Amino acid sequence: MRNNVLIWLTGWSFSTFNSFHRWVARIATVEAALHGISYTVEGFLDGGKAEYIENWSEQYWRMGVIAVISMSFLCIFSIYPMRRYKYELFLLLHLAFAVLCIGTLWYHVAIFDGQYNPYIWPCVAVWVLDRVLRLCRLGLLNLSKLQATIRYNKDADIIHLTVPVRGISRPRAGSYYFLYSLNGLKFWESHPFTLMSWSEVGAQNTKQAALELSFLVRPQDGFTARLRDHVSQKSCSYNESGTSQVSIRMAVEGPYGHTFGLSHYQNVLMVVGGTGVTVALSHLCMIRDIAAANKNPAFSIRRVQLDWVVRDSYMFEDIYENELLPLWSSRVFSGDIGLEIHIYVVEDGSTTPLSATDRDTKMNRFSSKIISDGCMDDTGKTMSSSDTQCDTGSTPKITLSRGRPAVQRLVQERAEESHVNEQKMAVICCGPGSMMDDARAGVVCSMVNGFDEIDFFPESFRW
Ligand SMILES: Cc1cc2nc3c(=O)[nH]c(=O)nc-3n(C[C@H](O)[C@H](O)[C@H](O)COP(=O)(O)OP(=O)(O)OC[C@H]3O[C@@H](n4cnc5c(N)ncnc54)[C@H](O)[C@@H]3O)c2cc1C
Repeated sequence: MRNNVLIWLTGWSFSTFNSFHRWVARIATVEAALHGISYTVEGFLDGGKAEYIENWSEQYWRMGVIAVISMSFLCIFSIYPMRRYKYELFLLLHLAFAVLCIGTLWYHVAIFDGQYNPYIWPCVAVWVLDRVLRLCRLGLLNLSKLQATIRYNKDADIIHLTVPVRGISRPRAGSYYFLYSLNGLKFWESHPFTLMSWSEVGAQNTKQAALELSFLVRPQDGFTARLRDHVSQKSCSYNESGTSQVSIRMAVEGPYGHTFGLSHYQNVLMVVGGTGVTVALSHLCMIRDIAAANKNPAFSIRRVQLDWVVRDSYMFEDIYENELLPLWSSRVFSGDIGLEIHIYVVEDGSTTPLSATDRDTKMNRFSSKIISDGCMDDTGKTMSSSDTQCDTGSTPKITLSRGRPAVQRLVQERAEESHVNEQKMAVICCGPGSMMDDARAGVVCSMVNGFDEIDFFPESFRW
């Protein structure tokens, strides 16, 4: 549930609350089954088969049995493979069995002269409140035109979505929004995506867009594949950088999720994998806005390090041109705050393996692009297995490496530097589970080694 009063009251994250929800549901289902089995056995012991048959003639009995069966199906159809491979079916069944369970419970407890019926209402109220708030968020944020821009880069296999919205609240790093595509038949489907960046487009009145929100989407098999196919159907050409752009009718609902203030850290380390870079970019946007506004006296960020592991160089090239370059042009990252970007290209995204020469050619093309933008010096021209880097003082520093980094060691080394320089450090990680585990282990080891001015913020794209 997106708008959950209990999450607001507890202050828990969505995933913590979800774990709690699953375990409470499992325990309640076991208790309900035991309750049903006990009454069945008691009936047999007291009155034998005749009483058992008579019980079935009672409405409360039949409703109780259906409620227990619904609860069991709710648990069975929520197993991970179902959520992973048939998410929409899982959602539909979850909703259908939940409604059936609540409805039958109402009639089951009615035999107590309505004494327990009021306990059903809070469940209904929590659910109805969620739906009402969803509608409110949709209505408040979206413009009547509902027109968004979708750009697909086929080489990098990523989609950029830009949605113009009303400026009802300032976007915050780490928040996510649910996107609805109104072009197809499945207009009710909505999927969560983390805000990557935002820009002001001027208008302050509520009829025109005040903000443009940008999202980065990796196509999977359902909704996201349909977005990719929409571009292929509507546009017949890709430009030289492999991208094609069309417009789409789209609504956005949000913001959701928590955000954490980074202002009081001197050093921010972001370790991300693939599309996890959206989390890093949104924090860079927020740091840019806070530093540019110059209103927060507690703001003490002096150094930001982004370590980004990508599958292939196409994705980096795309993000570099469309997101990083505009960010760097801001005064903030060309002097006040030292920005370092370390890229690790793990392998090429193409299905046929590249020869070593092809790889070198591609990497050289890629690094020359950065050199020509003045962010990497000439030492970067030859891409050997070692790092290539530049540090031109006022511009951000970039290093390019091949292969996966040892994340735990990397975090520990950076934390050690911070410790020596007596800088409070924030470590943000968004990527595959193993990367998050390694980053967490690095933070824990640093703490064990005596550096306790360090905080860890894991971000996940999974429930
Ligand atoms: C908080 C959050 C933020 C996210 N941010 C991003 C992002 O910035 N960029 C990005 O590319 N992806 C992001 N994701 C993942 C993205 O939501 C899924 O990849 C997308 O919903 C898949 O849609 P599909 O129909 O194509 O998926 P399918 O091919 O049907 O499934 C692929 C995977 O997505 C999961 N999934 C499918 N639908 C949903 C849904 N409605 N809600 C949650 N999970 C779902 C499935 O369980 C499965 O694991 C985020 C997920 C969460 C939970």
